[in-house]
This record gives sequence, structure tokens and C-alpha cells, in this order.
Amino acid sequence: MSREKLKALEELQKVDLKIRDLEAEAEKHPARLRQIEIERGQAKTALDATRGKLADNERARRQNEQLLGLERDKVKKWESRLNELKTPREYAALARELDIAKKTNLTAEEELKRLIGEYDDLRKLVGTGEAGLSEKEAVVTREGQEIQSSLDAVQTQTQELQAERARLIEECDKSLVSKYERIRKQRGGVAVVPVVSGTCKGCQRNIPPQMANNLLTSSEILSCPNCHRFIYAGEEPQGDEAGV
Ligand SMILES: [Zn+2]
Repeated sequence: MSREKLKALEELQKVDLKIRDLEAEAEKHPARLRQIEIERGQAKTALDATRGKLADNERARRQNEQLLGLERDKVKKWESRLNELKTPREYAALARELDIAKKTNLTAEEELKRLIGEYDDLRKLVGTGEAGLSEKEAVVTREGQEIQSSLDAVQTQTQELQAERARLIEECDKSLVSKYERIRKQRGGVAVVPVVSGTCKGCQRNIPPQMANNLLTSSEILSCPNCHRFIYAGEEPQGDEAGV
């Protein structure tokens, strides 16, 4: 009698464990989706930063070109004026100014050259970044769909199992069900376990020998004194493995 009651509970437990596994599986999906969305976000941030640098480069280049143009005009104007100057002092002063202006232009030209080189590198980086981002976006789209369809499948399976559970619970002794619920919540989903060779298969501890005997004879429902799970006499292993 007690064995039958526990068998009904054990059937319920099988379904509950399947439901638990499905729920655990379903929880992994949103985590994966978050992960790939984070990766997409990082790719986007990196690309935006590179685009920002490219825009800075273009701005700096325009400014440099403009400045260089003005300075060159100035140099030309001064050079044409050199011969018109009356005194050696004026000549020397302008010649010094010219010298400085030419040096400044040389630096600006070098900077321009550097900016042009940097521009090419940045253009390449933007290209790589764009390809990387669209790859991440494709992953989000593809895996997003896959995740959605597995979540749908999990939901269907869970509904089926819930229906099965409702049917099984009708076959269980009501007074045991609430205790079963409490234990399985505390004990990782497993509330009904066999005792094999005197060992509770829930907590792997030995139960008192007298209790092991009672399991075979008593009509009472017994619980493991250590983990409090419902226990019943399981099948003993055959041959040399019998142990204890
Ligand atoms: Zn136990």
C-alpha cells in the first residue's frame, strides 16, 4: 500500500524533474541572447569610435589644407615684396619672417602627410568594423529566431507536462503531495528515493538497519532520518557488488 502511494509520487516526480530541466534550458536562452546583443553593442561602439576618429581626421585635414593655402599665399606675397624694401633692416626682418613661415609650412605639410596616411588606415578600420558589426547583427537575428523557436517548443512541452502532472496528481495521496512539494523544493527536486544496500540514494547516507528492515515489512511511509526524503526499498544489486 505504502509502496503504491510512493510509486504514484515517484511518477509525479519524474514529470516534475522534466519540467524543471525544461525551465533550466529555457533560462539559458535569454542569457545567450543577452550575450550576443552585448557583443553586437561592443562592435557598434568600436565602429562609432573609429568613425569619430575618421571625422576628426577629415576635419583636421581640411583645416590644415586651408591654413597651408593661406600661409603659402602669404609667403608668395612677402617674397614679391622683398625686392621693394628700402632698407637692409626691413629686408632682414621680412626675410626672417619668411623663414619662419616656410618652416611652419613645412611642419604643416608633414602633418598633412601624416593625416592622409592615418585617413587610409582609419578607412580600412571602418570597413573592417562595418563587416564585423553586420556579422554580429546577423548572429543576433539568426540566433534570436532559433532561440524563439526553441522557447516555443519548450513552452509546448511544458504545457503537455503540466497536463500530465495534473493527471498524475489525481492519483496521489493528497496528504503526501504537500509534503512532497516541500521536500522537493528543499532537496533539488528529488523527494522520493530508493534505499539500496542500506544507503539512502538521496543523500548517500546509511539508514539505521532496523529502519531498512521496516522498509520491507511496514505499511507505513518512511522518511530518511538524514535528508527527510520519502524512502522505499530499492532493488538490491546482484552478485559481488552487493556490498554491506
Ligand atoms: Zn537521505
